[in-house]
This record gives sequence, structure tokens and C-alpha cells, in this order.
Amino acid sequence: MSFVKQFRCTVCNQAIEYKEDTMTCPFCGEKGILDIEYDYEAMKKFVDKNFFKHSDDFSMWRYYPMLPIDKKHASQMLKIGWTPLYHAKRLEKSLGISALYIKDEGVNPSASLKDRASGIAVLKALELGYHTVSCSSTGNAASSLACHAAHMGLKSVIFVPKRAPIGKLNQLLIYGANVISVDGDYKDTFQLSKLAIEHYGWYNRNAAINPNLVEGKKTVALEIAEQLNFNPTDWVCVSVGDGCTIAGVYKGFYDLYQLGLINKIPRLLGIQSTGCSPFVDAYITSKPLKEADENTIADSISVGIPRNPIKAQRAVLESNGAFLAVTDDHILKSMKKLGSKEGIFGEPAGVTALAGLEEALKNGVIKPNESVTIIMTGHGLKDPINAQKAVKAPVLLKPKLEDLKQYMKEKGDKKHA
Ligand SMILES: *Cc1c(COP(=O)(O)O)cnc(C)c1O
Ligand SMILES: [Zn+2]
Repeated sequence: MSFVKQFRCTVCNQAIEYKEDTMTCPFCGEKGILDIEYDYEAMKKFVDKNFFKHSDDFSMWRYYPMLPIDKKHASQMLKIGWTPLYHAKRLEKSLGISALYIKDEGVNPSASLKDRASGIAVLKALELGYHTVSCSSTGNAASSLACHAAHMGLKSVIFVPKRAPIGKLNQLLIYGANVISVDGDYKDTFQLSKLAIEHYGWYNRNAAINPNLVEGKKTVALEIAEQLNFNPTDWVCVSVGDGCTIAGVYKGFYDLYQLGLINKIPRLLGIQSTGCSPFVDAYITSKPLKEADENTIADSISVGIPRNPIKAQRAVLESNGAFLAVTDDHILKSMKKLGSKEGIFGEPAGVTALAGLEEALKNGVIKPNESVTIIMTGHGLKDPINAQKAVKAPVLLKPKLEDLKQYMKEKGDKKHA
């Protein structure tokens, strides 16, 4: 069963017949990124609160009637989604806001939100009879694709820029992907993958291009809403690179709104690093998006030419949200703060949402009496080198109790001194 009605081009606005393997608009070419439109009236008869109440599927596939998939192979997949939404009381208090929730996407099988898109890609590739899937990525899209391809018996060919963090690169190799490390930046990497995918006829998991993938990412918003009893927070904060994630978050809330399951769409705060902030620059200057430097430790959002600008800008505009940038230094501090206050270890792009929330509170974009969800998009163990920058090295002592006592005393910890 599928309630997919048609595609609509985000550039020329034409309705286009839904075909499984269509990627972009036939009239606009590569820039013509497509949206999937659903028949909400028909979907409504099937998807209501009762449907969720009786579902025993605690993965992203519990939302299958709202997705462009045939769920035939879904039960054989690794468990993606239905990640915890924590009420972060300690952090909420220290920030002085009325309610704070953290969606922990680091517990997905390959430890990032990207599993939601890769899950769709692998299901589609299986449905359509492909043997090989491919993408270019700064890391997480790749490691998640390699992960789910391995589990479902597909081959993966992955193009990574040579700056990919070691944790992510190791994941790829462990999952048995054919890894092509490209001597260049993300732009060069993307270009080569595009040519190769055309040439070899592999299934394309490049997120902006493939209109099905944002539908996978939207399940994070469906979960946030359901976990809050269809009463989502005033704001949802998420870091932005290509823009597919924030577009997916918006699409999820949009669908629920169309179905009458929520009565407002949360305002979306899109956060970038000051070292790579094309969306923020365009937002502040009200000018078209311009290519930006890729100069941040948050590798997952180090994207100088975003591939999904229209959908991302629309998500912020239509939700009455905002874009803002935070420094890398602030990102590192947030990494330590989230870990030490809540026990959640995020990679730089994952904790960027927390830094963004602090910045938004400081400059009045978000008010203390508003409720907020931050999406922690990826696990900290993926990038041990940057985690090391966020902390001090531990003390080194001789194995003597006297030395320990001395150290504890100096530290001023009265209880143990
Ligand atoms: C990909 C990614 C993002 C940003 O998603 P885009 O679709 O590129 O905007 C944020 N955080 C993490 C951990 C990611 O892997
Ligand atoms: Zn078009």
C-alpha cells in the first residue's frame, strides 16, 4: 500500500508522475529536486492515533503508510529509528528554559540519523533489483549506507573526501564497502560519485538528488511528535549541512499537520558553524545562497555548496524558524556539556544543535518560556580526534594511595581528601 500521489518539482512547481527510479525533474535537470506528495485524504483513513496505538513496530517502519516504500524487506533490516527522546531536566534547568528534550540519534545501528535515509535507499535498491548502492559523503551517509547494504547483502561503493574522520572511515571498511577516498574536497567527491553512478548504473543514495531519502529522514520528526503525544515542542533545533535533514524534519511535521495529528508545526532552528555557513549568510543578507568555505571541525556539516538549498530554506521560512551560526569553540564546549550533564556523547555536528540553542537563547530568537527539542544527530565516538580537543587529558599518577590522596586534596574534593 502506498499513498504516494506524485512528485512536485521544487524549482518549476510542475507535478510529475511518481516513478520509482526518477531522481530529478525532467524539465529542470539536476537542480530540479523533487518533493513527494501524498494523498492525505486517503492516508487519513488509515493513519490515525489509533493506528499508532496498536502498532508493535518500534522502528522507523512503523510509519510505512507515510513512506514511499514497499515494506516487504523491512522486517529483515537492522533496527533503525524509534530512538529515545529524553527529557533533559538537568540541562533544561541550567539553560533556564521551560522544557528541553533531546532526540538521541546516536543509538541508531551506524550511530547517526543518516540510517533513516540509508534504510530507505537499501529498501528501494532491493525493490528495484539493484546489486550495488553508491553515494558520496563526508562520512555518516556513507557509513550508514555501507552498514545497511552489508546487512541486506548488497554491495556498496562509497566516495569520501580525504578529510573524513577516522571513526567513520573505519566503519566503512569494517562494513566491507568499496571505499574510494578522493583527493579533493566534498564538491570534488560529489562530482566523481555522480559520474560513476551514471557510468556504472548503481543505485544512487545521494540524499539531495534522491527524493525518497528525505522521506526517511522525516521519520525523526514523526517520532518526536508521537513521543510527545502529538504535542511537539515550540522549537526543534538541528544542524544543517546539505539541508536534507532539516528538510526531512519539516516534511515529517508537515505530513502530520496535513493529517490533522498535530495542530502546529514547530519552528525550526537551522544551525551551522561560523566556519562554513552558506545558509546563515544567505539568511542574514537575504541574498541567494553563495558558495562558502569549508572550515569547521564539524565535518558532517562542512558543506560549502549545499545540495538541498530550496527545501532547507523553505523548512525554515514556512515554519517561521531561523538560521544561525555558532563557533567551533562553542561546539566543542557543547560536546563536553552534553556529555557531562546528560551522559550523551555527540560528534561535533551532533552537539551543534545544543550550541545553537544557547546562541538562540542569548540573542532572543528562542525565549526561555518556550519548549525545545534538540536533535543530537550523530555519536561522538565517530570522531575521537575532535572529542580529545573538547577535554583535558587525565591526570597521571604513580600507583600509590598517598599520591592519589595528594591529588584529590589539591583538586579540593573534600569528600575524598
Ligand atoms: C548529515 C548530518 C547532518 C546534516 O544533515 P544535512 O542533510 O547535510 O543538512 C548533521 N549532523 C550529522 C551527524 C550528520 O551526519
Ligand atoms: Zn522542474
